[in-house]
Amino acid sequence: MDEAALERPDSGLASENLDTSQSEQLCAAAAAMSPRLRAVVTALCLQQQAHRNGRKLTDGELDVLQAALEDLADDDAEEDLGRVHGSDELIRAAVTHLVPRRPETASSVADIATSITLDTLEWLEAELPRLGHTVTLKAIRQLGSSNALTWLAESALDMTVTFHLLTTLDEEPVMLAPAQAWHLDEAAAFIGVLGLRTVGALRISAAAVRQQPDLTRSLLRLTIKACGYDSTLISAQLRSLSQENPERTNWSLLYHPSTRAPAPGHAAVLIDDDLLLRALRQGNTWLVTLALALAATAQVPSHLGTRLVTELPTLGPRTRLRTAQFLACRWPDLSLPDDVLVRAGAARARAAALADSLRHRDAHLLLSDPDLLVREQTVRGLTDIPTPELPVLKEALTVPAQQWTCLNCGTVVPAEVKECECGHTRPRVEISE
Ligand SMILES: [Zn+2]
Repeated sequence: MDEAALERPDSGLASENLDTSQSEQLCAAAAAMSPRLRAVVTALCLQQQAHRNGRKLTDGELDVLQAALEDLADDDAEEDLGRVHGSDELIRAAVTHLVPRRPETASSVADIATSITLDTLEWLEAELPRLGHTVTLKAIRQLGSSNALTWLAESALDMTVTFHLLTTLDEEPVMLAPAQAWHLDEAAAFIGVLGLRTVGALRISAAAVRQQPDLTRSLLRLTIKACGYDSTLISAQLRSLSQENPERTNWSLLYHPSTRAPAPGHAAVLIDDDLLLRALRQGNTWLVTLALALAATAQVPSHLGTRLVTELPTLGPRTRLRTAQFLACRWPDLSLPDDVLVRAGAARARAAALADSLRHRDAHLLLSDPDLLVREQTVRGLTDIPTPELPVLKEALTVPAQQWTCLNCGTVVPAEVKECECGHTRPRVEISE
């Protein structure tokens, strides 16, 4: 057990010592971002207030916490790879206050377990028995195909697999200055770019390393270059951390990027057509993200667009959507095949372009699409909606949908059915106020 993880105070979202008016301001700010984030922040503010006043949460406050937990449990960890949006704080609040009084909510805790960090997964293993919630721990362990301890060990192994590859990306020996070896600023900033914070993201990256080591190395080297770093320095810093404790390297230290180092750049680095296609065909979410991020900033030849269009039908559902989004963003006039996943990706790019030019209301047709996935992707693209535009957009959503398409298995499901055969939940389409 990592002692530092236990001793480190909860940090971040809504867990600082806020007074009531600061809590209210935070809730208002979160509400402006998304209904989901508002639910999480409200729940955390309530639990923080109760904690400060030394009282238990009321039934009404537990309802808010439970709603936020269930809301997050519906989230698709692979779609939002590596994004940590209050899940750690929420799961800690839920385990402390909610699960003991409402044991049936333990299943929702297990459902968001891929969106938490390894630190919190370790915390669950240590904290539940300490709080005397052995029944809860047992309930969480019994959920899913493997028990939490096995999963914890697997996640630590996943982390080692990915970080070890990074230590060997460039084996040219470099003498690190003492400050470079101690602070590891560049390595920490680069790890931040890779989006490897959550247990789910670590699982996907380790799968990439195991199944496609050469492809992964090539994409990582290019990503380091695009960030403006030298791969010999990054690998040397990671090796130096590893040599401090080869048996149990504390890779989590790299999750706290320093404010000393300047933010990584976004230099245009040429990505080879074949490398991009290999990543897309392979379909690992992490590799696809890295490859498309490189292609988005690079000077890519226009024949690549035509080549990707012919490739679209052969790609997996999630990759097809992401590739269509890339194509529609890069070449808005390119004609794309008629396919729901392609339509959803293009809708996301189109919505983002409309938002950029303050033409949100022109997205109303996309929001009335017969398929809920297209509507959901449109909402994701439509950022910073001005309040006067909300009624038109909400009106568009009232048109009954016919179906939704699963991003995971590609199955088309009737609109009234909540889950597809692979167990994925129906897209949630909400426009925030
Ligand atoms: Zn499915």
